[in-house]
Amino acid sequence: MKLNKQLRKSVKRQVVIAKRAAKRSFRFVVFKNKYSRLIRKYAKMEANKAIKHGFKGVQNQIAIRPRIRLFSKLTLILIILLFLTNIGAGYLKAKEADIKVNGEAILVAKNNEAKNPDEILLQASIAAKRSPFNFRMPVVGGVISQGFSGYHRADDIAAAYGSPIYPLGGGKVIYVGFMPDGHGNTVIIDHGDGLQSLYAHMSRMDVGRGDVISETTKIGNVGLTGHTTGPHVHIEVFDNGVMINPSSVLPDN
Ligand SMILES: [Zn+2]
Repeated sequence: MKLNKQLRKSVKRQVVIAKRAAKRSFRFVVFKNKYSRLIRKYAKMEANKAIKHGFKGVQNQIAIRPRIRLFSKLTLILIILLFLTNIGAGYLKAKEADIKVNGEAILVAKNNEAKNPDEILLQASIAAKRSPFNFRMPVVGGVISQGFSGYHRADDIAAAYGSPIYPLGGGKVIYVGFMPDGHGNTVIIDHGDGLQSLYAHMSRMDVGRGDVISETTKIGNVGLTGHTTGPHVHIEVFDNGVMINPSSVLPDN
């Protein structure tokens, strides 16, 4: 009987404690909500005030400064123009296939920009291989003694001193002279189609600037002028100004 009473008392106390805890937490939630709402409201008010203040400041500046007024007007006009041209360009882009001149559709070439010099070199050598010229070896019986590399953008073709040199193909002579940078006696020929070839270290030059020559025209002789350790002809090939591997346009031995 006594035990029962004690048990009931303890249960009652537990209930009271739990109720109190619940009440406290409820009060805390209410308090928190009230507080955060107040903060939010205040922050909103402050932000609005700041924006209004800033806007008013700008308006004041525009009002008292005619140059700023003019500039802001111009900027607005520019923005509108830009927006309109953008819309126009977008409209034309969509209609690109439908635009016709004299009944013919216009083909717009895509701009393929190469990213690095190696890529340009690769593209150039591919383009050169597709060239309509059938290039020949410039020296009969010559041997490539040094090929194309990063620091030697040319082919060296070793041959006996005085061997006749022929151009890779027909074209127009655009340079004849002594290049003091180590090339020595040099001839440059323009083959058209963006291709040019250069011949260096010659002992003798048989053509003049402006001459139109064929691939059977002897342009000079193998020599030792400029920086060279042995008789050879140093050949450089340019495809639209880019030095390409001469082997890519020379016939395979
Ligand atoms: Zn060389």
